[in-house]
Amino acid sequence: MTANDFNHKVVLVTGAASGIGREAARAFAARGALVYAADLNEHGLAETVDLIAELGGKARALPLDVGNEQDVAGAVAQIGREAGALHVAFNNAGITGQAHRIEDYPTADFDRVIAINLRSVFLGMKHQLPLLRQSGGGAIVNTASVAALTGPGGMSAYAASKHGVHGLTRVAAMENAAHQVRVNALAPGWTETPMVAAASAQNPAFAALAANAIPAKRGAHPGEIAAAAVWLASDAASYVMGQMLVVDGGMTIGGFEI
Ligand code: NAD
Repeated sequence: MTANDFNHKVVLVTGAASGIGREAARAFAARGALVYAADLNEHGLAETVDLIAELGGKARALPLDVGNEQDVAGAVAQIGREAGALHVAFNNAGITGQAHRIEDYPTADFDRVIAINLRSVFLGMKHQLPLLRQSGGGAIVNTASVAALTGPGGMSAYAASKHGVHGLTRVAAMENAAHQVRVNALAPGWTETPMVAAASAQNPAFAALAANAIPAKRGAHPGEIAAAAVWLASDAASYVMGQMLVVDGGMTIGGFEI
């Protein structure tokens, strides 16, 4: 890996206005990529693009709703027109949804979480894959979660969506392994993004309990998760296909310490 191994590469990052996506956009740009930073939140996107420009990187804001097929198709078409290629897509935008037991979970909210976290990854890949192949190949990284491996009570929609992201990733990897497009997923654990940090500040007792349950005794910095996304997308991971890389401070090791 070199500091500029993404020179001349075009990288799309969704959820780039905040948290893990913002850090990933910065990291790809720092390594030479032209980054298309996509998100619903236009103000946050402008901040991300400015941060990258201040560091001497190249980024363009791409306002979109990952749940809207027209937006997704239009964004990929715009990248094709402007940049002429797409080499990496980091499908990372997502929401947590509400916390309710299944019998109390509002059906419309369940549908919304599935649409934004899972259907969006299908839509993203559906429209990105032809351009990735046309561009000579590349990599897709989809953000799942430790909730793709576990059953967090109250989080049925979120866990179902993230288990689905894992499955979709494996199918996409199978379909594209011989077409020079590698597809993998990333499963972050508890990550101190602005949303999580605000929730922790409001409920320090819960935050302390959560941190204590993580073998590393702390949440991840978003940059630690972004680094794993960049690695999966890089040539250093050239033989990694259809895997879900868990980056969780040991949260899913299982067992217990004596
Ligand atoms: P975040 O809230 O900081 O960032 C998510 C971004 O996605 C926001 O900028 C938001 O505007 C954007 N977004 C939401 N809905 C969108 C839509 N319909 N269209 C376009 N953009 C949309 O959260 P984060 O923690 O950085 O989350 C990034 C990803 O990581 C998510 O998929 C999340 O599920 C996953 N994740 C986060 C954690 C954690 O602890 N923070 C743990 C595991 C997985």
